Amino acid sequence: MSEGLNGLPPLREVIARHGLAASKALGQNFLLDEQLLDRIARIPGDLAGQRVYEVGPGPGGLTRALLRAGAEVVAVERDARCLPALAELREASGGRLTVVEGDAMAIDEAALAGEGAHIVANLPYNVGTALLVRWLGGERWPPWWASLTLMFQQEVAQRIVAAPGTGAYGRLAILAQWRSEAKLAMKVHRSAFVPPPKVMSAVVHLRPIGAPPGVRAAKLEQLTAAAFGQRRKMLRQSLKGVPGALEALEALGIDAERRAETLTVPDFVNLARALP
Ligand code: SAM
Repeated sequence: MSEGLNGLPPLREVIARHGLAASKALGQNFLLDEQLLDRIARIPGDLAGQRVYEVGPGPGGLTRALLRAGAEVVAVERDARCLPALAELREASGGRLTVVEGDAMAIDEAALAGEGAHIVANLPYNVGTALLVRWLGGERWPPWWASLTLMFQQEVAQRIVAAPGTGAYGRLAILAQWRSEAKLAMKVHRSAFVPPPKVMSAVVHLRPIGAPPGVRAAKLEQLTAAAFGQRRKMLRQSLKGVPGALEALEALGIDAERRAETLTVPDFVNLARALP
């Protein structure tokens, strides 16, 4: 740990000095508890000498924890008000922090953070799911990132790790689990945030595993979008518009009167593989 990071002022002081009143529109709920932040930074494993990509550092609480863990951090922040505080942090880190002002939805983060980086973020709720779907998508696997450690609203976290037959199981569970191991790593009480959000939060941790052979991600995405777009309907109805899906159900011996939520992740993988 460098001396520079030890000498930083408390986060509350940084927020007050730089006038960082939380913006609802930017999904700003800040974490200030250093012990909690250190626990989050430990979830991906030993980060010493590792590269980390962080979305939305805000006043820099999680960023500090990642730097304390020895990581080199590339962070993208949309709110220009946070940049002076982050510049101080960069200084204290001995250059281990790179801050880019921009929209995480519109950035080439793979080029920025580089191959093998871990993604760690307390995501803004309004773009969190879209970013996750983007990181989990694409035909290339393993992806450019080594792991994802992401804070979501607890209800979204539960959808990511959900098992078949549960109300939370759907498109997100399948996209997260078909070629990654997804775990709910930590629940975080709403009172840990400033200001506290209305709902509880949780950190999920995902690691890529071997992708099942012969399956195109685009096909699986098409299939899950259709199947769970009308989740109360029988597959016969919800998959009607997906070319070859009804034939694939029959070939695999999956009853077309079942609902999407009763199919396992391997069932969806086999269906996607059988599509033309
Ligand atoms: N990491 C800080 C923490 O844990 O205390 C702040 C987390 S706060 C939930 C989300 C952060 O993401 C805010 O700093 C917000 O300004 C930033 N943000 C919101 N939308 C963004 C976007 N599209 N691209 C980059 N950052 C964004």
